[in-house]
Amino acid sequence: MTKPLLRFAPSPNGRLHLGHAFSALLTWQAAEHLGGTALLRIEDIDINRCKPEFTAAIIEDLHWLGLDWPEPVLHQSSRFELYGEAANRLRAANLLYPCFCSRSDIATRATGTDPEGAPLYPGTCRHLSNAERITRLERGDPVQFRLDTETALERTGLLTFSLIGPTMRDRPQIRYARPERWGDVVLQRKDMPTSYHLSVVVDDAAQGITHVTRGRDMEAATDIHVLLQMLLGIPTPIYHFHRLLLDETGQKLSKSKGSQTLADLRAAGTTPEDIRRQLGF
Ligand code: GLU
Repeated sequence: MTKPLLRFAPSPNGRLHLGHAFSALLTWQAAEHLGGTALLRIEDIDINRCKPEFTAAIIEDLHWLGLDWPEPVLHQSSRFELYGEAANRLRAANLLYPCFCSRSDIATRATGTDPEGAPLYPGTCRHLSNAERITRLERGDPVQFRLDTETALERTGLLTFSLIGPTMRDRPQIRYARPERWGDVVLQRKDMPTSYHLSVVVDDAAQGITHVTRGRDMEAATDIHVLLQMLLGIPTPIYHFHRLLLDETGQKLSKSKGSQTLADLRAAGTTPEDIRRQLGF
């Protein structure tokens, strides 16, 4: 049997808060239940928002919580070439097309919303002729590349993945993925030759991740990941979606809303044991 491998994959665009601590502790506990190992992966493809000092702080906070992982840590910012190769495989299979639409083009023509409430891409550029594509690419128009989801799904048929509970002991349940509800997702952004979806799928496979533990807010995005895994011929891990920690107003803890960080808690005298107890570990 392959050795269970899990990962905690934060983005270094801020300090970790209690929600991250919960996710990390759950991942390490799941690894222990499975007799496997948890890895740390730094998801820093957004080189404008991610900062090396936040990476250093993440490592410090996780060590403070008592967590450890095998070295070297994988940094996504050093792997753009590999993501580009994966995109090229999809391009060669005629599943990736250039899109020149601006945000406002999409907002005015959207045909609905995706599972995160963003305007659903109406497929405008899917219908451009190759001649027009070449003209606009040569002219240097800002471009992003989208997956032709409908064509992709015609090739794959129904997609399933396995869902497991937090103890990792129960029998996994089968889930059906519904990537069509995301429309033609962007796989190579205007500002970078990849996207969250493409990088995460390439790296889960490259690192041999067998079990992905992530928050319920990432549950719907998993549909796209399962589709990409099938298209790229790489394995689909088993998934567990954990609950999200909420603040007093019922909102999910987040960096952008200025939730109290682990560093703040530490400075106020909270110990790692307090945090484990508070979070139920
Ligand atoms: N990097 C993502 C985050 O910071 C999560 C990674 C994943 O589970 O795919 O929320």
